[in-house]
Amino acid sequence: VLKVENLTKNYRSGNRELTVLDEVNFEVALGETLSIVGPSGSGKTTLLGLCAGLDVASSGSVVLDGQALETLTEDQRAGVRNQLVGFIFQNFQLLQTLTALENVMVPLELKKRKDAREKALELLRKVGLEDRVTHYPNQLSGGEQQRVSIARAFANEPKILFADEPTGNLDTETGEMVENLIFKLNEEEGTTLILVTHDLELAARTHQSIHIKGGKLQEALNG
Ligand code: ATP
Repeated sequence: VLKVENLTKNYRSGNRELTVLDEVNFEVALGETLSIVGPSGSGKTTLLGLCAGLDVASSGSVVLDGQALETLTEDQRAGVRNQLVGFIFQNFQLLQTLTALENVMVPLELKKRKDAREKALELLRKVGLEDRVTHYPNQLSGGEQQRVSIARAFANEPKILFADEPTGNLDTETGEMVENLIFKLNEEEGTTLILVTHDLELAARTHQSIHIKGGKLQEALNG
């Protein structure tokens, strides 16, 4: 479902060019889980953004569900994201002016689903937040906010879910609960999961783990 070939990303800073990703290659099948690990600044978030079509590479290719992202316009890439992709971020990124329920309804309403409300309620039940639907993000704990964002990510019925340090802002116990929830829903829904993490224990739970350092892919850790 995702194929990354010779992916290179350069950023220009002043008159110097900085290579953040250098000829990265990997492939993930539908329903598989992949973790990306590596030191701070090694290019993990950049790699995730390129795979999700948030940004384009300097050279190389990202094929997502049969579509080469570098050949698409920005609008077409946004379309691919709305159709195929779900996101979970370290800092949750919920809309502060909307309730938990309304946050989960956003992607469903974008897809003009008539059953947006019922579907969102069902997802909030799945993440154990049925008694928090009318709460605003600032009335929820970090773990609860992340569960809302998980429900929102799955609302899109994505083929592929991108999670950038999803447990990075949570304590160990809450982090484990959130982790278990992501893996459980991922398996139930048959979604593909691409996860960026510093946590090697978490990385060991995925089918495949890639290690990047200085923008280059290191040898496989497992899988
Ligand atoms: P962390 O684990 O700390 O989040 P990371 O592995 O996710 O780090 P990236 O965020 O991908 O790393 O950043 C990789 C490098 O690219 C860093 O040196 C960063 O400063 C640089 N970088 C990222 N985005 C830009 C940008 N828009 N313009 C210039 N340089 C950038």
